[in-house]
Amino acid sequence: MKRASMPYETIVLATRNTHKCDEIRTMLAALPISVRDLREFPQCPEVDEDGETLEENALKKARVVSRFTGFPALADDTGLEVYYLLGEPGVYSARYAGPEATYEDNNRKLLRRLTQVPERKRGARFRCVIALAGATGERVFEGLVEGSIAFEPRGKNGFGYDPIFVPAGSTKTFAEMAPEEKNAVSHRGRALAALKYYLENLYHVSVRSHPPEPAGGRNA
Ligand code: IMP
Repeated sequence: MKRASMPYETIVLATRNTHKCDEIRTMLAALPISVRDLREFPQCPEVDEDGETLEENALKKARVVSRFTGFPALADDTGLEVYYLLGEPGVYSARYAGPEATYEDNNRKLLRRLTQVPERKRGARFRCVIALAGATGERVFEGLVEGSIAFEPRGKNGFGYDPIFVPAGSTKTFAEMAPEEKNAVSHRGRALAALKYYLENLYHVSVRSHPPEPAGGRNA
């Protein structure tokens, strides 16, 4: 019997971040996709994340990696958007306090910008955009988590803005949560769930579109 083919048999992750690779591999484990990553393609050029939007950056990374490797590629870009600051730091989240800024520098700058701002005006959201690009086309998936900015850093887990981000409905910051607790509601978890849903549907469509077996089976 001819095996049902998956439209994306191989996908390359446009990252060398082990944590992200593991997270994406776990999420896609049930699908018949070989997931490779940039550690297998050390010559792949670095991509400048100089776009004006998260979408632009994610697509740019996915396109470069897809062209270099010859496989469809998956790239993500994330930003923290604080409503009182009209969306800052947004696409500049990684380098908010300067090109060499540490996570602590960025958190300190954000807390300083919100000095004297009361709790009800500290609303914010994380937005994660995942782009899938290849010879057959491009698609973008988004994950959001609403919340607010704490008055001071709390917790030791996670990274980036986790110690100052409190997701809606919780009193804990992301850095005070266990990884599974954060992943269940996080922007990246949600964007990955949307990607997984899309790929699962493609797979089921491609399986269903194969001709049905004759009654009694092929050997009848
Ligand atoms: P990237 O696009 O995943 O590299 O994220 C850009 C920046 O956003 C990072 O340097 C972090 O400061 C921040 N960031 C991304 N994801 C998270 C998260 O899950 N928690 C806290 N900060 C994050």
